[in-house]
This record gives sequence, structure tokens and C-alpha cells, in this order.
Amino acid sequence: MIEKIVIANRGEIALRIQRACRALGIRTVALHSEADRDAKYVKLADESVCIGPPPARDSYLNIPAVISAAEVTDAVAIHPGYGFLSENADFAERVEQSGFIFIGPRAETIRLMGDKISAIRAMKKAGVPCVPGSDGPLSGDDDENLRLAEDIGYPVLIKATGGGGGKGMRVVHSEAALRNAISLTRAEAKAAFNNDIVYMEKYLENPRHVEFQVLADEHGNAIHLGERDCSMQRRHQKVVEESPAPGISDRVRQRMGERCADACRKIGYRGAGTFEFLYENGEFYFIEMNTRVQVEHPVTELVTGVDIVREQLLIASGERLSYRQKDITWQGHAIECRINAEDPRTFMPSPGRITQFHQPGGPGIRVDSHVYNNYVVPPYYDSMIGKLIAYGANRETAMARMRIALSEMVIDGIRTNIALHQDIMNDAAFGVGGVNIHYLEKKLGL
Ligand code: ADP
Repeated sequence: MIEKIVIANRGEIALRIQRACRALGIRTVALHSEADRDAKYVKLADESVCIGPPPARDSYLNIPAVISAAEVTDAVAIHPGYGFLSENADFAERVEQSGFIFIGPRAETIRLMGDKISAIRAMKKAGVPCVPGSDGPLSGDDDENLRLAEDIGYPVLIKATGGGGGKGMRVVHSEAALRNAISLTRAEAKAAFNNDIVYMEKYLENPRHVEFQVLADEHGNAIHLGERDCSMQRRHQKVVEESPAPGISDRVRQRMGERCADACRKIGYRGAGTFEFLYENGEFYFIEMNTRVQVEHPVTELVTGVDIVREQLLIASGERLSYRQKDITWQGHAIECRINAEDPRTFMPSPGRITQFHQPGGPGIRVDSHVYNNYVVPPYYDSMIGKLIAYGANRETAMARMRIALSEMVIDGIRTNIALHQDIMNDAAFGVGGVNIHYLEKKLGL
């Protein structure tokens, strides 16, 4: 077993990883920027190292600083959490070259899945259903591109192969707009990702976002933990997630989950990962794979009883998966609300001191958050300050518990999106379940 790890992240996920380490007797080194120096979770770690000034590029994204912190503390492995360096293949490579274990997949797997065209090709080959599209980069030949769009059928989407964070995409509704859209997306992609390769796929008009969680070890074993529905989004950012996804049958879960697990075996995947799909008219279309732990992993933990972060640590220690597929069963329903320090109407970030913090409790309630009374939310990072997760024997019970928990939760001194979550939990269409990815923005009049 790994003896000591560096946690190269901050906030709630840094605390979550620390908790999993404690349960396994692994010592922890919390890395932090100057802005996070006084955070309680940093003090709770066995050791801590300040890796730079507040801006992420000078601290949490500073590869040499992260690696030298691992060196000076004699750590064995580095857990990147989510965001920051977690899907940076160069970082994973440098970590391993420096003699540490990267808690995640091999660098070449991250690279393969980080480029959208190569990811889609690998997934097609592994039998995972993808969105109909160009099957590779678009050429500079206008006529060829027009024919391709005609074949796929409008509307089509022009996507940058190096894109991320919902950037580098453009919907095209007609032939007249195609040429321009391709050159604009190319130029934007060049500027943002230094890669002007674009491809084309069918634009799905009203899909849901349904994703599958997988775990794979170094010994060729891979399992799936079922799916999550993350359709409640604003600007491609997930706001509420749940598991299971409403309306997905056991048969479909097993069939799609097995395809994902099988794809892991085929590409030699290692660690925790997520296959993201758009789901429309009963069909799944792969869009991307996240090669790391996700923000929304707790809903899967609650319905399967599997501790995903613990499994990541065991896999990184070279152990076999603790479960076989037949050991995995799904029980009840879980919903997660991402609590953000932001105005519930304008969505403007609202950093500052939390003057009063009271967290809800009771049956089926889990709070993953690093904040407390008098904690100061720094202005430099993502506005998510925690996750409220409710579990119940069925979806109705989980929703009812979530409503009560939201009403109990007190976060004073800053603005939060708790009121938005209350609206969503009382929304009739959410109550039925299965809204599409545009629902929330339409509801908000955006
Ligand atoms: P990123 O890496 O930037 O997050 P994704 O490929 O995951 O890019 O796409 C982000 C979002 O864009 C999806 O969650 C979905 O809302 C939308 N999207 C992507 N591809 C399509 C498509 N073919 N049809 C409709 N919407 C899409």
C-alpha cells in the first residue's frame, strides 16, 4: 500500500481525498496556495506545503512546484483530484518520470482521451456508440465539407478536437453558414487551444446528459458503477446530478455499462473514469471521457455503496479491484446539488467571509464541503464551495430530503445558489424526471 500521498488540489475534493487516505492509513501532504494557507483541511493534513501565490497558474497549475513538494516530503504518489492538473498528460508523464505514482490513468491514455478525434476513434473501435460525424479532421475543401454536412443532416456541430470547458464549438443550421463557421471555429481553437483541427458531428437538439462511472485496475479488470443524469446544466456546467438516471432500465444500464467497462479493458484503462453520453430518443452517443474522479461521484457512491476515491488509492497501490461486476448492485436514489458562492439570479461569483455556516443533517444527507464559520471564500478559484447530497429509497424520498436539507442549510455573509436549488427541487418537470440539457437555461429565461 502507498504510504504517503500529495494532494495536488484544493477545497472539498482535497478534503474528500484526505478522508479516504485516513481510512486507509495513508499519510497526506496538502498542497496549497497562499490564499488557502489557513484553510482547516490544510491543517488537518499530516503535512502541508505552500506551492505559490494565489493565482492557479502560479500554484495549483505549477508542475515543477507540485513535483518538488512531493520530493521534499518523500511522498510516493500524487492525487490530482479534478480540474487543475488532473487531465494534463504532460503532468502525469512528469510525475511518473520523477519516480512518483500518478493516481489516475497512464499519460498516454489521458492524451488519447484528451484529443476528441482520437477519443472518438478509440471508442468507435471499442464498440461504444458515438455521434454520427466526420470521423476525423475536416479538410480545407469546402465542397467536401458541404457534402459531409448534407450526409449528416443539419443542424451540425463544428467542434475543436482540442476543445474543453464547452469552448470551441459552433452549431450550423444551414449550408450558407457552414464555411464561415468552420473558419471561425478553427481560428478560435487556434487561439484558445493552439490547435486548429476541427471535426463535424450531428447536433443533437434535445438530448439528456447521461454518464457512466467505471473503475479499472492494472490487472485487466474493469467494472461499471452505473450511470448518472447530469442534464440540469447552465453554460455546460452541471448544477444538479442524480443516480440512477430517470427512465433508464436495469437492462439498458447493464448493456451500456458493460460496453464502457469493455472499452476500458480494450484501451488498457487504469483508475476511475467517466464515459459521458448524450442520450436522445433512447439512444446513447459518446461525447467524451473524463479520466479522473468527478465532482458528482458521491451520488454513485450512495447508490452502490462503493467508495470511489478509496478504490482509486487501492488501484494506484497496484491492488486488484475490490469488486467484481456481479458484486455491484444499485439501491435507492441519490441527488446532488452543487452549492456555489454566487448570486442565484445573476450568477456573479460572491467570494468573501462566511459569517454563519450551518450544515444540514438527518437520514440520507451527506455534505462534502471544506467550509465553516468564518471561512473566507477566495476570489481566485471556482465558485463551488460544497455539495449537498440526499439519498432515499426512491427518487421522491431523496427529493423530499433534499428540500428539507436545503431549508436547513445556512450560509451567511456571501450569496449562494441555495435558492436556485430550492426552485429546481420544486420544479414540476424535474419532479417527473428526465429533462434535457437546455431545460434549466430555458426555465431561467436565458
Ligand atoms: P467539453 O470538453 O468542452 O466539455 P463536450 O464534447 O463534452 O465538450 O461537450 C460539451 C457540451 O456541449 C455537452 O455537454 C453538450 O451540452 C454539448 N454538445 C456537445 N456535442 C454535442 C452534440 N453533438 N449535439 C448537441 N450538443 C452537444
